[in-house]
Amino acid sequence: MKAREIQIQNHMIKKKPYYLPVGDEVELFTAAYEAKIPVLLKGPTGTGKTRFVEYMAYMLGKQLKRKKGLPVITVACHEDLTTTDLVGKFLLKGEETVWMDGPLSTAVKKGGICYLDEIVEARKDTTVIIHPLADHRRILPVDKKGTVIEAHESFFLVISYNPGYQSIIKELKQSTKQRFIAINFDYPDKEKEAEIIAHESGVDKKTAADLARIGEKIRHIEGHALTEGASTRVLVYAGSLIKKGISARRACDVSITSLLTEEKEVRRAINEVISAVF
Ligand code: ADP
Repeated sequence: MKAREIQIQNHMIKKKPYYLPVGDEVELFTAAYEAKIPVLLKGPTGTGKTRFVEYMAYMLGKQLKRKKGLPVITVACHEDLTTTDLVGKFLLKGEETVWMDGPLSTAVKKGGICYLDEIVEARKDTTVIIHPLADHRRILPVDKKGTVIEAHESFFLVISYNPGYQSIIKELKQSTKQRFIAINFDYPDKEKEAEIIAHESGVDKKTAADLARIGEKIRHIEGHALTEGASTRVLVYAGSLIKKGISARRACDVSITSLLTEEKEVRRAINEVISAVF
């Protein structure tokens, strides 16, 4: 595949994303942005972390009187992610060798939010390159070029981390963690979750409330049998299928039961929860 330079204008959040705050996360993020303290969003998958980052980029962009908001460059981290993937590399273009910035250096130079999703998945030697960026130095060393980039005024580093997957090997180093403030994300309460489900899937209020109730009940089974409960995302998916005419039970079956576990007993428990509601 031909490598392409990242176009920052393609990463602008032009429309206001729908985000329902569940606590003081908006105030905390705004204060951290102003104080230039990077943020770690901690919590299970599907609890609105990505949506929150996009919302904050839009809101802060407005506040900064930037017409189109702040851009967000998201990197889904994985175990093969190298420093080169983030920072950039030399490429052969015809006879010439040209430098191509990676997602991190693009955000550092041009400004905006760089969101490193699931940072623990990245190799440890990759994670350390964010250290000088994440503290007061706000610089990114580009070893391959022997240069250092100073971060743009509006550059902001956000990482996410799901403690549910935590194991000794997959733990963030203290030296990394302690460069951030941590904002905890959890499942919203029933009322808020119903509001989110209704907005996102378009189902009526009653169905949204029923789905939120199912979510809450499944999370109570969680401690015993499931590594993670049904996230807001899967409840939204169930709602979207219902909205398209799929029966409520079947929608829950394919978006919740079949995905959360392979264990028969636990499936039965989940099915009981669903059939008590629908
Ligand atoms: P994460 O990044 O934590 O895995 P996402 O941001 O992708 O989760 O959220 C998954 C989906 O759940 C979103 O697309 C959105 O539909 C919904 N969602 C979850 N929490 C909220 C919230 N507080 N406000 C609005 N939508 C939310």
